[in-house]
Amino acid sequence: MKFKRYDLIIIGGGPVGMALSIALRHSGLSVLILEARSSPEKKEDPRPLAFSYGSRLILQRLGIWESLPDVTPITTIHISNRGGFGRTVLTAGEVNVPALGYVVIHHDVFRAMHKRLGGCGVDYLTEAQVQQVESDTEEGRIKFQHNGKTRQATADLLVLADGGRLTRHIEGVTQHAHDYHQWAVVTGIETSLPQCGVAYERFAAEGPIALLPLGRYFSLVWTVSPSMAQEILSLDDSEFLACLHKQFGDRLGKFIGASKRSGFPLSLKYVTPVTARRIVLIGNAAQTLHPVAGQGFNLGLRDAWELAGEIISTPSDVGSPMILKKYRDKRQIDSGAGRVFTDSLVKLFSNDDFLLQSIRGMGLSALDCLPPAKRFVAKRMMFGARG
Ligand SMILES: Cc1cc2nc3c(=O)[nH]c(=O)nc-3n(C[C@H](O)[C@H](O)[C@H](O)COP(=O)(O)OP(=O)(O)OC[C@H]3O[C@@H](n4cnc5c(N)ncnc54)[C@H](O)[C@@H]3O)c2cc1C
Repeated sequence: MKFKRYDLIIIGGGPVGMALSIALRHSGLSVLILEARSSPEKKEDPRPLAFSYGSRLILQRLGIWESLPDVTPITTIHISNRGGFGRTVLTAGEVNVPALGYVVIHHDVFRAMHKRLGGCGVDYLTEAQVQQVESDTEEGRIKFQHNGKTRQATADLLVLADGGRLTRHIEGVTQHAHDYHQWAVVTGIETSLPQCGVAYERFAAEGPIALLPLGRYFSLVWTVSPSMAQEILSLDDSEFLACLHKQFGDRLGKFIGASKRSGFPLSLKYVTPVTARRIVLIGNAAQTLHPVAGQGFNLGLRDAWELAGEIISTPSDVGSPMILKKYRDKRQIDSGAGRVFTDSLVKLFSNDDFLLQSIRGMGLSALDCLPPAKRFVAKRMMFGARG
């Protein structure tokens, strides 16, 4: 079995791994990217991804933005508390941006990136499952299955963008995990009132209900307990819409149609540190967050962008301790803040304790009356901890 040598091997051709490969297209480095699944063209993933304005700028620089087929701008975010007072409304005008964010379907991003990757001069293998990862101070080594054969490759740097599947095999990094005992139920929703660019986040005792504008209708991400998720997934459409209406209220008129429903178990996972010898973890492999604040992919995209920046600025020794330290230090605040912010939102808003309900009602009302505070929050959500 022959070893093939690269400057960089990216394990995982999800959106974050692909974004990194595309960001390195002019670097002159030899790059191999391996994806376990078959061609993304066939892949259906109905998750809505809310991109921040900052992510739009990165996707434009990667040449992906223009090829996304359906992008719906969010011009207003409406946050409210079910069964209590308090709400905050944030508009794009208050932050001087054309939109606070954009909603795109996960599989559209996947396909656009897959297509773009074709012209980037990287070695890109699908149906290539990495089974073993090792490293020392000189290089990283992998074994993977492709076309029924075991192959091997080495590189100056291994990037794990595999969503966290191989983390337990990496020496020197610790994975922290917390199961929220919640599921996200995702589907498309047609309402009797048209969508006007408003994204709704409504906090209920079971968990938040997010209705994101998508095309003419909405995309729903409804967080509930695992047992309620099973119940909701088994309802017929009219029972499901009645149940949603009861939780969400009348703000959008009637809920008149729903597409196929999917469920995703939710947990918080993150690793410390995000680097090991000749290895770096990015995207969901570094931090998997609850979708309540729509931060996961946005953070992962910034991981990819900043890592590419570090590599391009010192291409002579990709994966050296100095580059890895610079990357780690750069990402620490953004990643930590995204994680703490998201986790606090889940804990503060996913319960019906009377005292907490009053505090969050007051918090939402206070935020609504303080434009500088609103701008502060909005900028962090759009561009990360460094605003
Ligand atoms: C319901 C829901 C809604 C969400 N909404 C938002 C949102 O609005 N905004 C937002 O920013 N984020 C959102 N997220 C988070 C977002 O989906 C993730 O952060 C993003 O998909 C992570 O991308 P990734 O490439 O890091 O990981 P993944 O998407 O997990 O990709 C990892 C890839 O690695 C491949 N792989 C795994 N193991 C191997 C192996 N051994 N060998 C080769 N390949 C391998 C997998 O096949 C996969 O394609 C949401 C998540 C959920 C669940």
